[in-house]
Amino acid sequence: MKPITAVYFHDLFNKKIWDIINNKFQNFPQIMQKQLNSQNVKLIKPPLISEKDILKFHSDNYFNQVKRRWDYKGARLTVGGCVDAAVKIMDTKYHNALCFGVAAGHHAERNYAWGGTYLSVSGGIITKLEERFGSDIRIAILDTDSHHGNGTRDICLGHNNVLHVCFCSSDVVEENGTKICVDSGYKTTDEKYLKLIESEFIKRIETFKPEIIIHLLGHDTAQGDYGNRGLSKEFFLRLVHRIKKKSEEICYGKYLINTHGGSNLDICEYIHPRIIDILAE
Ligand SMILES: [Zn+2]
Ligand SMILES: [Zn+2]
Repeated sequence: MKPITAVYFHDLFNKKIWDIINNKFQNFPQIMQKQLNSQNVKLIKPPLISEKDILKFHSDNYFNQVKRRWDYKGARLTVGGCVDAAVKIMDTKYHNALCFGVAAGHHAERNYAWGGTYLSVSGGIITKLEERFGSDIRIAILDTDSHHGNGTRDICLGHNNVLHVCFCSSDVVEENGTKICVDSGYKTTDEKYLKLIESEFIKRIETFKPEIIIHLLGHDTAQGDYGNRGLSKEFFLRLVHRIKKKSEEICYGKYLINTHGGSNLDICEYIHPRIIDILAE
């Protein structure tokens, strides 16, 4: 049997205008119908993360605020889908996954959040994988959204088994080189950015040896999107292709992508079906 690429998408995601990313999923999942028809691609409806589990990585105080938000359900489905995908990839039920997301992601800290993401995806994944597979499970998180992943960083600190490499606007190395920020430059090119991926991420995972790679993939860095750093649409395909290939070499292809920032419909609809093609090839 061919290895399965799981695509997590909930119909709620195409029905609302979400903070920051707007209604960029309005034509999904139809737009990826061709990919979803392929034998080794499976469309999965994400489950809600339980409130008990949310309290393992958000404070009581913050939880009492976030549960009153209008987009709370979308955030819970996003984290629930990512956690389910991560566990099933580790269990080898799925080979890799593309998890669509709204209202949850890298700006949610334990006790505070901003920027369109109100529950932590990384918090959910780290907590569940440590529970299921031991607190020494090695997880690499690559963040190529345009903005600093303050929430992911806040939640990863203290976890020596988690490598967090965040491509943003400052150069930072903390916690013995397991928590990194890379200044990716405001006016960059596909080539320059991919070179930084080699030196700052690929090289690091060769020694860190993660058991799974989590990729927070925003397309706000693209020309024509709100966090524009000068990247083309093709850049995202080259990036995924590179990380996927490396994941096959070092962690049996265990690779999970979670969509992040970007609101440009044209870019969103161009890259995501093609990303499935790359994951499933
Ligand atoms: Zn962003
Ligand atoms: Zn950063």
